[in-house]
Amino acid sequence: MLLTTVFFFPLFTSSEEGKKDPLLIDVKPAKLTALKKEALSWLDANYSELSQINREIWKLAEVAMEEYESAELLSSYLEKMGFKVTRGVADMPTAFVAIWGSGDPVIGILAEYDALPGLSQEDVPIKKPVLEEAPGHGCGHNIFGTASTAAAVAIKQVMENQGLAGKIKLFGCPAEETVVGKVFMARDGFFDGLSCCIQWHPSGVNDVSLDSSNAMNQFQVEFFGKTAHAAGDPWHARSALDAVELANVGLNYLREHLKPTARIHYVILKGGSAPNVVPDYAKAWYYVRDIDRESVERNYERVLKIIEGAALMTETTYRITFISGVHEFLSNRAGSEVIYSNLLLVGAPEFTEEEQEFARTIQRNLGLEEKGLKTGIEPFRLPERSWGSGSTDVAEVSWLTPATGLGIVFKPEGTPGHHWSAVACGGMSIGHKCMLTAAKIMAASGLDFLAHPEIIKRMRAEWEVKKGDKKYKSPLPSNLKPPVKPKK
Ligand SMILES: [Zn+2]
Repeated sequence: MLLTTVFFFPLFTSSEEGKKDPLLIDVKPAKLTALKKEALSWLDANYSELSQINREIWKLAEVAMEEYESAELLSSYLEKMGFKVTRGVADMPTAFVAIWGSGDPVIGILAEYDALPGLSQEDVPIKKPVLEEAPGHGCGHNIFGTASTAAAVAIKQVMENQGLAGKIKLFGCPAEETVVGKVFMARDGFFDGLSCCIQWHPSGVNDVSLDSSNAMNQFQVEFFGKTAHAAGDPWHARSALDAVELANVGLNYLREHLKPTARIHYVILKGGSAPNVVPDYAKAWYYVRDIDRESVERNYERVLKIIEGAALMTETTYRITFISGVHEFLSNRAGSEVIYSNLLLVGAPEFTEEEQEFARTIQRNLGLEEKGLKTGIEPFRLPERSWGSGSTDVAEVSWLTPATGLGIVFKPEGTPGHHWSAVACGGMSIGHKCMLTAAKIMAASGLDFLAHPEIIKRMRAEWEVKKGDKKYKSPLPSNLKPPVKPKK
C-alpha cells in the first residue's frame, strides 16, 4: 500500500531496557524560518491581550449552544483583526466562520469554546466553586478557542505583510461537549473546499497523536404508557418505566453478541415520580459507539429492534429523538509530522516554581502523586490501538479534509478531565501559557502548509488512501435541526 511504502519510516530506537520501540517515528525539529519568526513575535507581542480573551471566555463559562458571548468575543476580535466573519452558520447562533485571504491553499483552523455544567471553580488549587452548580471550563475550551483564534490571526498578519497567497478559515464550533457543533457544520457543507485543517486540544501532556476515536450515535427514547394506582388497579396500567428497563435488559444481553469494540451506555432521564403511581412516561438517553461508522450503524439497527421489542412487551408506544452521530477520526501522519516538528521547534510551555507548586497542591488534594505539570514532549509514535476511546465531532472534519491534532499541557499530570482541577488551571497563567504555546505551534505549522504545497499534496494523498472510496455521508438525518438554545 502506498501509505506503508511512502510514509512509514519507523525509527528503531533503544529504550532504557535496550529494547527497540518499533512504533516510534523519527521527526526532527522544524526550521525557524523568517515567516515563523514573524508569527511567533506577533504572538509574543500580543500575549497580554490574548490572555485577557482566554480569561474572559473562562469567566463566561457558557455551556453547549449557550456560548453567545464567547462566540461574539472571538468573532468581534477576528473582525477587528481584518477577518470577514459570518455569524450564526449552520442554523446555530453560536457558530461562526471567519475568513481572510484569497486563492489556494485554504487552511482551516478549528476553535471551540463551550464549558461544562456544574464545574464552576475559582483559580485556587482546592475545590471552590465561584458559584455553586454553575458551569466551568473543565475541558479547557476557553484555551482551545483563544489559541486557535490567535494562530489564525498570527498567520494572517504574516501573509498580509509578506504578500502570501491563500486563505485562512477559522471555524467557531459550538457545542463540542454534546458532540453537535461540527456535525451540523459538516452536514451543511461548511468544511467543504479546505486544503487541510489544523486543530488541537488542551491536555495533560504535550503530544501529537495518531490515534483514532470511536464513531457514535446518540439518541433519546421516550416511552408512553398508561398510569394507574400501583397497588389498587395495576392491571389497568402500562408502565413506561418497565419499557425502559426491559430495553436496557435487552441491550445488556445484546452486548455479548456485538464485537468487543462496541460500547453502549445509557442513563434514565425520567422514570416516574412515585413508586405507588405506575409511570406513564419514561425517557432514557443512549450512546452507541464502535470503531467505525459502519459498525455503529449495524449496532444501532439492532438497538432499535430491542427498543421496539420493549414497547411490544409492555404495550407502550415510543418516540426516538436522534441527537447526533459522528464518524471515527482519520489521523493524518504527513500533517502530524509537520505539527510535531513545530512542537519540537517551539518547545513545551515552561512553568514557574509557583505554577508547579499550584499543580502539586491540586495533586496532593486529590490524593495523587505530586508530579506537577508535565514539561517534556511525548515521543511521536504510531498508534498502538485505535479503539476503546471517546468520540469527537472533529472526526467529521477529518473525513472532509486531512486533519491534524496537537495536545498542550494545561492541567497537572494524572488529574481527571472534565474536573474542577482543570478549571482551576485554565483561566490563569498556566492556561495562558498553554494557549500561547499551542497558538505558536499551529501558526508555525500553518505557515509550513502555506509555504510548501508539497506537504499538503502528501497529506491529501495519504488521506485519499485512508478514506478509500468512502464518500462522506452525514450521520444526521437531512431534516434534523440543531438543538439551539435561546440567549438568556
Ligand atoms: Zn474538550
